[in-house]
Amino acid sequence: MSGIDRDEQQHAAPVDPVVDEAPEQQSKAAPAKTDSQKLPAILLFGMPGTGKGTQGQLLGTMAGLFHISTGEIFRGLDPSTEDGRVVRDLIDHGNLVPDDLAVRLWKQHVAAAIDAGELRLDSDVLILDGIPRSVTQCRLLDSQVDVLAVIHLASANDEPIVERLLQRGVSAGRADDGSEAVIRRRFEIYRQTTAPVLDFYPPEKVHSINPLGTPIEVKKQILECIIPAIRRWQRDLN
Ligand code: ADP
Repeated sequence: MSGIDRDEQQHAAPVDPVVDEAPEQQSKAAPAKTDSQKLPAILLFGMPGTGKGTQGQLLGTMAGLFHISTGEIFRGLDPSTEDGRVVRDLIDHGNLVPDDLAVRLWKQHVAAAIDAGELRLDSDVLILDGIPRSVTQCRLLDSQVDVLAVIHLASANDEPIVERLLQRGVSAGRADDGSEAVIRRRFEIYRQTTAPVLDFYPPEKVHSINPLGTPIEVKKQILECIIPAIRRWQRDLN
């Protein structure tokens, strides 16, 4: 079965050399993918409310960068489907979507973007916002994605972030931002389950940035980290 679940999209698709099989489904004889066959990616990482979505959107407008937010994908699921119903209930209560389901939905989204010609395999670098969110997800993505850099939006203090999220709850109407208890639960899950993702990647790839500046100040700092990482990747390809 295709690792990006093309079958479930019910349309024929060309063979994809990049994301074709989940690691646990690869036959022993299959050679491991080389890094040049993986999708290059920058991870936007940080607690809820640190601006991953804002920065992802800003960066995603730039040529050669392709923004994918799992939160957006999950909120956009049709609530009349089983996946949509399950996911919405988890999100609204501040719980993570199970790893297998999260990665399967991400793969479906990537496959659809490739098929639609929106994501260009020869030149685009993914800006991953919200995934991986656990070490298990890191492992599930490892054969598919070449992580060029991890941008850690690291706030020293929870309180300004709680305020930000409560305001977002009003402006964006998100149920998970409407309750301080749900916000603090998400912080707890972040510390327990998501923060260990930072140790999965080599320390030299992880860049910590203060997320409390203006969006363009933060974006400038991110670009200063990712431009050299992307240059190195392009150089290694040639
Ligand atoms: P935030 O970072 O503010 O929590 P997101 O839009 O990134 O906002 O995520 C919203 C919710 O979607 C999360 O609280 C979680 O329930 C779910 N979610 C998003 N990405 C993942 C993921 N990779 N794995 C599991 N759950 C996820």
